[in-house]
Amino acid sequence: MTTVQSTEELKALAERAGRDLEEASALEILKWATDTFGPRFCVTSSMEDAVVAHLASRVMPGVDVVFLDTGYHFPETIGTRDAVDAVMDVNVITLTPRRTVAEQDAEYGPRLHERNPDLCCALRKVKPLEEGLTGYDAWATGLRRDESPTRANTPVVGWDEKRRKVKVSPIARWTQDDVDAYVTEHGVLTNPLLMDGYASVGCAPCTRRVLEGEDARAGRWAGRAKTECGLHG
Ligand code: SF4
Repeated sequence: MTTVQSTEELKALAERAGRDLEEASALEILKWATDTFGPRFCVTSSMEDAVVAHLASRVMPGVDVVFLDTGYHFPETIGTRDAVDAVMDVNVITLTPRRTVAEQDAEYGPRLHERNPDLCCALRKVKPLEEGLTGYDAWATGLRRDESPTRANTPVVGWDEKRRKVKVSPIARWTQDDVDAYVTEHGVLTNPLLMDGYASVGCAPCTRRVLEGEDARAGRWAGRAKTECGLHG
């Protein structure tokens, strides 16, 4: 495990690993991350599927899997989280915003997600994740380059300037076919909504099914210029 402490050292480590591991497999990337950071590494999951959590549990059984419960999730997403917690060798950690939806409604008015989705995401996603990642030096995501133009340059290991942490995207180079093949081969849990026309699953008020020919994230904040919640953009 690394004894690196300073932010500048972590940043340099991330940038070097991003270059060195560009051609590495997802398991090799995760092995590097768990060897390097040990318990100061976690996986984040939106519970769209459990692919990265499954991969990480193969190299580090019991790995922390962090889930953001915004209070606006589909029941299927909460069910997927509960199933992952029950059957996989991972430690699911659920983060919640400081305010319940009712408290947010009382303070900002109802349906903030319609009037100011950036503020809603900041309160219900960005801030809780920032606080929840305090005890980690590195976090893994399921970002893929083929999901949307905004994710086309995702490094397999990079520097998260906003949170000052190493950000690992072990399946950045995977395609949807790669994900589907891995899910089938390993019987990985997936969100039932993926079988019901949804290609990317976020909060219920801000997610719709995708139409033929649309990219995977077209159903998120549809009709708005917004494409990311602030966790990755
Ligand atoms: Fe709010 Fe929508 Fe962002 Fe969820 S995705 S936090 S409901 S604006």
